Amino acid sequence: MLLNLFSVRTSDEELAKAVRVALLKALFASRASLVMGAFSGVVITSAVVYFCPSPWLIAAGALLVLTGIGRIASFGLFQPGSADAGTIKWEIIYQFGALAYAAMLGLVTFLTILISDDLRLHLLTAATSTGYAAAAAARNTGRPGVAIGQLLICALPLSIALLIQASVPSIVLAIVNLLYITVMVDITLRTYKTVLDAFIDRQEKLRLATVYERLSRTDPLTGIDNRTTLKRNLEELLDRRDGQIAVIWLDLDRFKQINDTLGHNSGDEILQSVASRLANLAYPSGKLARFGGDEFIIVTPVKDSQDAMALGDRVRFSLTEPVELENGPVDISASIGLSISNEYSTADELLRHADVALYEAKAHGRNCVQLFDPEMERRLLNSKQIEHDLRRAIMNEELEVYFQPVVDLKTLRVKSFEALLRWHHPVNGSVPPSLFIPIAEASNSIGAITEWVLMQACKEAAKWPNGLSVAVNMSPALLNMRSLPTLVSETLLRTGLPPRRLNLEITETALVEDNPETKIVLESLKNLGVSLSLDDFGTGYSSLSHLCRYRFDAIKIDRSFLANVHQHSESRAVIQAISSLATSLELTVVAEGIETFDQLMYIYDHGCAAGQGYYFAKPMPGRDVPGYLERAERERAALAASLSGREDLDVERSGPGRMVA
Ligand code: C2E
Ligand code: MG
Ligand code: MG
Repeated sequence: MLLNLFSVRTSDEELAKAVRVALLKALFASRASLVMGAFSGVVITSAVVYFCPSPWLIAAGALLVLTGIGRIASFGLFQPGSADAGTIKWEIIYQFGALAYAAMLGLVTFLTILISDDLRLHLLTAATSTGYAAAAAARNTGRPGVAIGQLLICALPLSIALLIQASVPSIVLAIVNLLYITVMVDITLRTYKTVLDAFIDRQEKLRLATVYERLSRTDPLTGIDNRTTLKRNLEELLDRRDGQIAVIWLDLDRFKQINDTLGHNSGDEILQSVASRLANLAYPSGKLARFGGDEFIIVTPVKDSQDAMALGDRVRFSLTEPVELENGPVDISASIGLSISNEYSTADELLRHADVALYEAKAHGRNCVQLFDPEMERRLLNSKQIEHDLRRAIMNEELEVYFQPVVDLKTLRVKSFEALLRWHHPVNGSVPPSLFIPIAEASNSIGAITEWVLMQACKEAAKWPNGLSVAVNMSPALLNMRSLPTLVSETLLRTGLPPRRLNLEITETALVEDNPETKIVLESLKNLGVSLSLDDFGTGYSSLSHLCRYRFDAIKIDRSFLANVHQHSESRAVIQAISSLATSLELTVVAEGIETFDQLMYIYDHGCAAGQGYYFAKPMPGRDVPGYLERAERERAALAASLSGREDLDVERSGPGRMVA
């Protein structure tokens, strides 16, 4: 039992503060029982002193009354909050009061038995002290040290006094009392253990409930609110209706690529860093949440739309700073959609509008802020319809590949054809690729479409004379797809087209991010033996570093430059600069959009090796290609004649009627 007592002390010290506080509150909980206990003690002691007015008993009785009053006072001062603030202080006060009162009662019993001969008084005090000891042990089970202490100092003096009397009945009674004390100590310890287990169990349940409640409200990675909480917050903000509420919905640009190339841990660090930057802007007036993946939402009261746009810009700006990771800085950016409440807005509607605006921001080349306007929703619905129809277009045979010739300007012979996709929509008629290709890219159907175009183009080209090649446009979205080289080589194998007769056109946007995956894919394509052209050069970033880093064979100057060549000196300057740059890098320059003889002469004079445009032919179905080639050969002679006198043209040497690539 002693060992039990020690283990109680140790476990007592290890108790969580919350459990100690709860136990302490339980001690102070029943004021009535304490008052009753103190009151009966005082009445019985007064009776004893009355019948046996010994100075010792009077002194002990007076001390008992004072202790009783002190305890009642301490109970009066204790408030439920006191336990949390000063657990130890109140524990000491309680223990001191309890032990002092028990000691006084024990002393009164001890003195009564030894001083008085009145058996009625013996009975009264013995019954009081044993009864009090039992009551105290039960009442203070929550603090077993106090309970057992009270038990011992209140009931032991009875046994001692009885043993001092040394009569047979008194010795028997003393022993019985000792057994009683032992049993009470054991019961107290056992009850304490049961009470403690129940307390700890309850505490653990409460803790788990708090944890689950927090998890259901927050995003575990960043610690900010989740979708459900944000929606509730937005509804509350709208209910208050004091001013306008802005919803700022942002999506990190190309986060999937970052995640795929740098690994998920880096991705997580980036998301955490973004969350903390956004928290600085959102709090304290607004709320911030992560909407899964790489999407975040801020909802906040704003003065007007200008105020909201300014905040949107600050959000965008805050993400232009690279995130510092262990392996170096990572550039990030975000596309942001913004919506603002009116008198009747609902949370769902505001969120939908911000989402639509976000879609628009992504379509506008990302890293920008778009404020919702109803026109956007109409456009989006339209593009959703296109997306839906496009998925069925291949199956329904609504797609067709057209071919536009590219002419070698030295020989005036067709050297290749560019494959250009056409969509004959059953209801809308001909849908231009500039409209549906971006939608196919955004909806991930571009892979299937490109696969199909590649197959048709290679099949068709395999039927052409040996020197002619075919060019296929590759969407930037496909260039970090490791499976692309396999797809290309399988298509070449199946169609029997030699790799040197396939050219892949890539727009510069595909290279802007310097993605290592893109470099690997382009290298593998080059190693297959296919050639690569940089398409629409001059419209995007036109970076020299791209030309040096990747092994291109040709540059295609965008047709917008040629369209303005006779009006704008800037366009002329660009064409000249690109031509001389390409010559020094040993790249072939192809001019797009030659519509007139003047334009043809201009680009020829400025060193472009090849040209493409309506002047030679518009894109045509595959079945028209053989007829076109024959016609072109005849027209070549006429064109050569009109160009006669220009010695640099190699038309005569090549001879009419032969196809030269
Ligand atoms: P692009 O690759 O720069 O193709 C050249 C575009 O210029 C074609 O437009 C062609 O019809 C047009 N064009 C050629 N010569 C002239 C001319 O003298 N005057 C004018 N005004 N236009 C001329 P198209 O067929 O509408 O294609 C537009 C763009 O759509 C293409 O630009 C290309 O980026 C994309 N595209 C077309 N087919 C595919 C495809 O199969 N896959 C992918 N990823 N993109 C494609
Ligand atoms: Mg092209
Ligand atoms: Mg082009």
